[in-house]
Amino acid sequence: MPRVHNFNAGPAALPLPALERAQRELLDHDGTGMSIIEHSHRGKAFEAVHNEAISLLRQLLDVPDDYHVLFQYGGASHQFAVVPLNLLHAGRSADYIITGGWSEKAYQEAERIGTVRVAGTTEVDKRYTRIPRQEELTLDPNAAYVHMTTNNTLFGTQWHWLPETGDVPLVADMSSDFLWRRIDVRRFGLIYAGAQKNIGPSGLTVVLARKDLVDGGRKDIPTIFRYATHATNNSLYNTPPTFAIYLVRNVLAYTVETGGLDEVERRNRRKAELLYGTIDERPDFFRAPVEAASRSFMNVVFRLPSEELEKRFIAEAAREGMVGLAGHRSTGGIRVSLYNAVEVASVEFLVSFMRAFASRG
Ligand code: PMP
Repeated sequence: MPRVHNFNAGPAALPLPALERAQRELLDHDGTGMSIIEHSHRGKAFEAVHNEAISLLRQLLDVPDDYHVLFQYGGASHQFAVVPLNLLHAGRSADYIITGGWSEKAYQEAERIGTVRVAGTTEVDKRYTRIPRQEELTLDPNAAYVHMTTNNTLFGTQWHWLPETGDVPLVADMSSDFLWRRIDVRRFGLIYAGAQKNIGPSGLTVVLARKDLVDGGRKDIPTIFRYATHATNNSLYNTPPTFAIYLVRNVLAYTVETGGLDEVERRNRRKAELLYGTIDERPDFFRAPVEAASRSFMNVVFRLPSEELEKRFIAEAAREGMVGLAGHRSTGGIRVSLYNAVEVASVEFLVSFMRAFASRG
């Protein structure tokens, strides 16, 4: 079976060379006579991989020295709880900007832990088709932090600016647009991102956190949930997901070798331009619900004239080797995820299929 054109929303496509490297090294990692999975997390072989992954992330995102790079077990959903456990001190309140299903979930989880406020929402009839403007936000200047979701995987919206929060730390769930281009890490107090979209397999979440926030984090919570525990131990307090970290290392090394984030961004912009261009060519057939200024470069959602046509579109595309095109089960429609590893050629293939499908009607 040849490799498919994979438009999955996550877990998602990974760069073939990073997977081939894993295949080559699987049985004999670096001349050690065993796979990386079989190595102790305290041994030299794994330690080298672990530290390389951290330093590649620092290099790619230009992470300042006063930020920790942490590897955490589990998904972004774990961080929905771990963030308030650490940062939401008794007597304080946190602001949440709600732009989709994942920010709703983050808010609901924080609500179980402390006092939270909705500082803005773009929900209309359970749908989110845009990002708010700064003047629509009611931010509490005394909040412990402001939480946002930089890219809304379900609804296909993305922030193309950052809210001004003054001295209040900005906390971002960047799961579905982490590393899609350069960012200014200093604008954030804390960033978390599940690995399974742009940088690796599921089971691992990357956290970038300002050191003073980690140091000042709550101490009355279980040791394993404290960012400070992981920071003090270079994310080796307990056994980390070693294979996931190894694969992330492969993806990051490949990213650096092939031109870094400038090249990643160039390709991502080209892919989005091709796809949105094709959608906009035929507004009578493809309906994009998202406001133009809020369109996501990572998850492109659109509708066809009927659910019947959507089903046919997905089935015919699958026969041509394109997978992952069904919208989220809560939203329906079509969703095309254009994460870093999706090739421009795959999007060219998809848009020519779309044009032909639309002209057949
Ligand atoms: N936040 C965002 C923006 C997501 O896209 C997802 C997963 N699709 C999550 C959180 C939840 O991630 P996980 O399933 O890894 O907990």
